[in-house]
Amino acid sequence: MIISMRLHATKEEVAQVRARIEEFGYRVHSIEGEERVVIGAVGVGDVTACLESLEAMPQVEKAVRISAPYKFVSKEFKPDRTEIKAGSAVIGGDEFVVMAGPCSVESERQILESAELAARGGAKILRGGAFKPRTSPYDFQGLEEEGLKLLDKARRATGLAIITEVMSDRDVDLVAEYADILQIGARNMQNFALLKTLGKCGRPVMLKRGMSSTIKELLMSAEYVVAHGNPQVMLCERGIRTFETATRNTCDISAVPVLNELTHLPVILDPSHAAGKRSLVPALARAGVAIGADGLIVEVHPQPEKAISDGAQSLDPRQYAKMMADLKPYIALWKESRVALAAAV
Ligand code: PEP
Ligand code: MN
Repeated sequence: MIISMRLHATKEEVAQVRARIEEFGYRVHSIEGEERVVIGAVGVGDVTACLESLEAMPQVEKAVRISAPYKFVSKEFKPDRTEIKAGSAVIGGDEFVVMAGPCSVESERQILESAELAARGGAKILRGGAFKPRTSPYDFQGLEEEGLKLLDKARRATGLAIITEVMSDRDVDLVAEYADILQIGARNMQNFALLKTLGKCGRPVMLKRGMSSTIKELLMSAEYVVAHGNPQVMLCERGIRTFETATRNTCDISAVPVLNELTHLPVILDPSHAAGKRSLVPALARAGVAIGADGLIVEVHPQPEKAISDGAQSLDPRQYAKMMADLKPYIALWKESRVALAAAV
C-alpha cells in the first residue's frame, strides 16, 4: 500500500497514520517529499480493512493498493513521469538529454577537452569516472578525489552538469559534493548498503542495470533508493550478458518500452557499454531515441586510441559530432511524440 499524506501534514499526523498502519500488522517506510510525506506499507494483513480505515483519517489524502513488488517506482503509484533536474537539463521531461564524455577522467587537459567537445555537440551533461570498477586489480582504478576536482573544473568551464560513478557507500558524501548525478555502475546494482546510503545523498542517482539482472531486479534496486528517501532516480539500460560475442553486451532495447510501461522513472540508454565497439554506437543511439528513452549516455574521447579505459567503444570528436547531427531529426520526432503523449494524458 502507498499512503499519501495531505499537503504539509505535521510530524504528529504522520506518526498517527504510521501507528494505524502498524496496528494492521504492516511495516512502514515513509519518504519525505518537499511538501508531502508519502508512506509505503509492506507486509501481510487485511488490506481492504486497512485501506478503509486509513482513508477515513482526515490527515490522509489517498491510500492505494499496489500489486507490483516495487511500490514507489511503479506506474500504479505515480502515473505521471518523474522529472529530474541536473544543471540546465531536465531528464524525463520533454527534452531529450545527452550525457557524453570519456569512460575515465585521466587528466585536466583530457577532461576539459572532452567537456568542450561534449558541449559543442549538444550534450547537457558530462560523464567521466573518477572511481572506476575494473575487472583487473592491476588496471587503472581512477583519479578518485583528484578526478572529482577536475570534473568540477570542467563544469565551471562549460556549464555542463556532471555525472560520475560512486562505487562504495563510504564515498557517497564525497562524490555527492562534486557530482550533479551519482552513477551506480552495473556491478553495483545490487550493492544494497550503497543503495540505502543513496537514499540520503540528496542528489539524483542513475542506476545502471546489472549485466545479469532482470528488469524486475533493476526496479527493486531503484525501490531501495526511493524507499530510503530519495525519489530522484533514473534507470539505465547498458546491455546484458548473453551467449552472443559479436558485441560486448547484448543491448536489450526492449527494456526501454518495458520500463516505460512499468515505471515513472526516466530511462537512459548507454549504447557504448552495450556495443563495446564505436562503429555500432550511432545506430544503437538512434534506436534509443526511436524507442522512447529519455536520453543517452555515450562515451567520447578527444583521442580514443590513447584512452586509458574503453577506448574501443569511445567515439572520436568527428564521429561524435556526426552522430549528434544525425540524431537531430529523430530527436525532433521524439519531441513531437512526447508533447502529443503529454497532451493526451
Ligand atoms: C561506465 O559507465 O564507464 C561503466 C563502468 O559502466 P557499467 O557500470 O555499465 O559497466
Ligand atoms: Mn566505460
